[in-house]
Amino acid sequence: MKYYNYDIVFQEIPGEVTLAVNITHCPNHCPGCHSPHLQEDIGEPLDKQTLDNILKRYGRSVTCVCFMGGDATPDEVQLLADHVRKTTPLKVAWYSGKQPIPDNFHHFDYVKVGPYDAQRGSLKERTTNQRLLKNVDGIPVDITDKFWKK
Ligand code: SF4
Repeated sequence: MKYYNYDIVFQEIPGEVTLAVNITHCPNHCPGCHSPHLQEDIGEPLDKQTLDNILKRYGRSVTCVCFMGGDATPDEVQLLADHVRKTTPLKVAWYSGKQPIPDNFHHFDYVKVGPYDAQRGSLKERTTNQRLLKNVDGIPVDITDKFWKK
């Protein structure tokens, strides 16, 4: 699994300051993909050591780590999620582009599901097909409406 870059973001997970890591080689091929470069097999390997190095620099500035993509290698996303949960107090999120709730949902505090549909819009649009699910005692609770409240 490789990553293209990372950034500290404020909108992707409501109530969290998030280190978002953009993972490449996306297999989803959404029509109108907003980040076509992330479909390419490019970037640097993302493993525990690399993530630790990023968190050494930014871990105290954020409350959450979000893996943006990684649908080609869900086991590797899970491995890194477990690592973050085991070694830091940070929450862990996954932006998947698949519609079904992943089998490994319970390894994350938040999971976004749903491919990008340009006509229905992103999570910020009430018409969106995407959903943000919060793990509440192992139960996926839909909190997508938090994006719509002013
Ligand atoms: S999941 Fe995201 S990166 Fe992958 S094809 Fe869809 S819009 Fe593009």
